[in-house]
Amino acid sequence: MTRLITTQGTLHADELGLLLPHEHIFVDLGPIEAEHWRDAAAEDVLELMGPEIEAAIDAGVTALVECTPTGVGRRADIDVAVSEATGLPVVLPTGIYQEPFVPEWAVEASEDEIREWMLAELTEGIEETGIRAAWIKLSASDDGMTETEEKILRAAAAAGAETGALIGSHTVAGAVAHTQLDVLEEVGYDPERFVWIHTQAEDDESTHHAVANRGAWIEYDGIGGEKPDAYYLERITAALEAGLGDRVLLSMDRGWYDPSEPGGGEPDPYTYLPNRFLPKLRDAVGTDQTRRLTQDNPLRAFAR
Ligand SMILES: [Zn+2]
Repeated sequence: MTRLITTQGTLHADELGLLLPHEHIFVDLGPIEAEHWRDAAAEDVLELMGPEIEAAIDAGVTALVECTPTGVGRRADIDVAVSEATGLPVVLPTGIYQEPFVPEWAVEASEDEIREWMLAELTEGIEETGIRAAWIKLSASDDGMTETEEKILRAAAAAGAETGALIGSHTVAGAVAHTQLDVLEEVGYDPERFVWIHTQAEDDESTHHAVANRGAWIEYDGIGGEKPDAYYLERITAALEAGLGDRVLLSMDRGWYDPSEPGGGEPDPYTYLPNRFLPKLRDAVGTDQTRRLTQDNPLRAFAR
């Protein structure tokens, strides 16, 4: 049976309900060279994000997937501290963000060295935390993968195939998602273990279904953001009508403590999806489909 690897042990279906597959507790969006993430203190993050996490728990969230990889300030130790203090299981990634955020060591490393690093994080633990990464987060430049990004994707495919870990990529253009799937198929990686993160950023909506029809997950993860709820309700209904209900993930891409902002900035609550969006989704598609989209699907995607 598959299990979800979290900061609070490996969990299975009957220990989990609503799952948020794309959020951030901590992410550094400041200038790369400043490396503000290095100096952040867990107690400051907890002070800002603790109440947000507690509100999410009250709204029924049972686990949250941290989507901050290396390159934009991943601090697994801080995620672990926030998780321990609040009781919410957090699902951690290995992986590397897109250029120019790729750290120097990874630019210079071979594909094999990156695969080894990912494998160690997926099977032994991240840094000093002793907590294993559940999945692999990476990214592609908006108009296509650079050579380094493709090297990271190939390394991820090898590490993912060996462990069963999911790969999720921040990819804004459908054409680039197709190219990534071409690379994955070429090396024999199962497209069902790939998530096209930020699918809603692609305006050509026929591409959403085309990517899902290749087997990949499509993720509508900007709920509560720029696009209105009606946009998401329409896309979700269309996917269900096309028989793609088992390929869709829903989240908000919210949070977070940003160490480049004074006091970590102002967080966006994780309660929008459970409290505001889900009642509308239940009205539109019913309780069973809502449960499938927000519990069964994210668990199937991220468990291994
Ligand atoms: Zn994100």
